[in-house]
Amino acid sequence: MTGNRQSKDRRPIGSALDAMTGHRMPGGCDDCHAYQTIEQHAPGVYVLAVFHDDTCPELRRRSR
Ligand SMILES: [Zn+2]
Repeated sequence: MTGNRQSKDRRPIGSALDAMTGHRMPGGCDDCHAYQTIEQHAPGVYVLAVFHDDTCPELRRRSR
């Protein structure tokens, strides 16, 4: 053991977003079983979208 730890994988935030792009991630709404997706619209530009259930009361409130 030299004391040098290089096990930490430090990546820029963009790489983490790249890893999530195109995947459905649960969450995003407390009122329904919503999921979120991340789309890359341009290099370095990511857009997070939340998809609510059709029956979501929060969604109904917003679409009025
Ligand atoms: Zn919702």
